[in-house]
Amino acid sequence: MDFALTLIDWYNLNKRQLPWRETDDPYKIWLSEVIFQQTRIEQGLAYYHSFTGRFPTVQHLAQASEDEVMKLWQGLGYYSRARNLHTTAKTIVEKFNGRFPDNYADILALKGIGPYTAAAIASIAFNLPHAVVDGNVMRVISRWFAIDDAVNSTVGKKKIEIVVNELLATHTPGTFNQAMMKFGALFCKPKNPDCESCIFNTACLAFQKGSVGKLPFKIKNQPPKKRFFNYLLLISGKGAYQKVYLNKRVEGDIWQGLYDFPLIETETETEMDVLINSSVWKVVFKDTSPVIIQISRIFKHQLTHQQIFAKFITISTEKNLSETFNDFLYVNLKNLADYPVPRLIEQYLSENGFLN
Ligand code: SF4
Repeated sequence: MDFALTLIDWYNLNKRQLPWRETDDPYKIWLSEVIFQQTRIEQGLAYYHSFTGRFPTVQHLAQASEDEVMKLWQGLGYYSRARNLHTTAKTIVEKFNGRFPDNYADILALKGIGPYTAAAIASIAFNLPHAVVDGNVMRVISRWFAIDDAVNSTVGKKKIEIVVNELLATHTPGTFNQAMMKFGALFCKPKNPDCESCIFNTACLAFQKGSVGKLPFKIKNQPPKKRFFNYLLLISGKGAYQKVYLNKRVEGDIWQGLYDFPLIETETETEMDVLINSSVWKVVFKDTSPVIIQISRIFKHQLTHQQIFAKFITISTEKNLSETFNDFLYVNLKNLADYPVPRLIEQYLSENGFLN
């Protein structure tokens, strides 16, 4: 069986009309690839339209402020993607005169663009023969050819790359890549694929050998690290003049460029009386007498390698804490919605009426 030809025929019959499939503009293809890397189409579509509407060209994106880009991205998660989009837009304007580079090496050298995205842009926008290898593609290839090396090992990945590049060589690269990803996502699913009605079932080695459920084989990763955040909502002032400290997260940890509140991180879930008697609490509040107004429920948030457990402690502080918090922003409570925040913080704010 000619796997590639059969696949492309299937794709032409089953493809969905989506805006980034109707264009060869590398900027829009890049945006779509970045937005949809970790996001379902239903969720990402509105973001794609917001970005292309607000920033129709790479120049528009390059000229925006970081806060504006992060705000538009809010809710999508994996915020390094938005920061990298912004940095790369500026690089394209400064180094390439605003024209998207048209070869694989230059595309791959751009910040935030790995082999997967570089291959997608090179093949779809410029028709260059580079195979996209993502989780869907690895699953399909490992099943078609019953490759049982771990797909998250160097050897397994390399084997799959060689096979998929051979398949792509004789066909239109962009169409082949999109067909491959689509088939993996829609048909050859991770669990319970409908092999009985699959067009490849007479040639698919995993189906023939009865090993579909075992492939792709993966080496187990470490369990995610648990982190415990005790957020301090330090509120001062009255009525419309209430203010709160905000922290802009910096490089070297999660959520770089987004805002959250001052926090005390602990090794485990910590009771309030233990927290109040901790040395860090005493450093923060010194001789002031903070009044605890409310303690929230625990908000749980899953990241790729970390699990965050956060509680929000609302504290009324009449005394000025600016000495301790001089690196923090001191903002009006009613303006909180203007700041790009992680999903966890957004969830808390919205549940507690701060975004109304
Ligand atoms: S037969 Fe099953 S495992 Fe093989 S390609 Fe089709 S859906 Fe995937």
